[in-house]
Amino acid sequence: MVAKDSVVLIHYTLTNTSGDVLDSSDEGEPLGYLHGHGNIISGLESELEGRKVGDKLVANVKATDGYGERDEALIQDVPRTAFPAEPVPEAGMQFQAQGPEGAQLVTVTGVTDENVTVDGNHPLAGQDLKFDVEIVEVRAASEEEIAHGHVHGPGGHDHG
Ligand code: ZN
Repeated sequence: MVAKDSVVLIHYTLTNTSGDVLDSSDEGEPLGYLHGHGNIISGLESELEGRKVGDKLVANVKATDGYGERDEALIQDVPRTAFPAEPVPEAGMQFQAQGPEGAQLVTVTGVTDENVTVDGNHPLAGQDLKFDVEIVEVRAASEEEIAHGHVHGPGGHDHG
């Protein structure tokens, strides 16, 4: 049964409220996560609590329990001179920027001669989400996995 410190492998398909598929586990490759450690969004984690192998469920997750509401303060104009000449910034580009809380994914939303507008909101912020989930495997985490806070091996993390 899925509980704190379980390693859980799931197949999932994520759609928005319009039914567009936004993300899914790779074909034949379930996603592994460590339950109770915030590896996945809280709204999905709470729906999986207490489930067992073979369970199929639909989790409807509100934006507040997903990637959060959009924060307009995370939209900023940055002088073009702050960007390298190549690649030329274009709307839709995504890149990692260093923020106060570490690396953060930002999306370019507009470009003028002087400025590049960047949006630091998660691309799925402000969206209600629907996950179709099948639980493929549940096992107890190793002490090392609990210490690291993530899954090792198939479906998880490889330290190489
Ligand atoms: Zn590790």
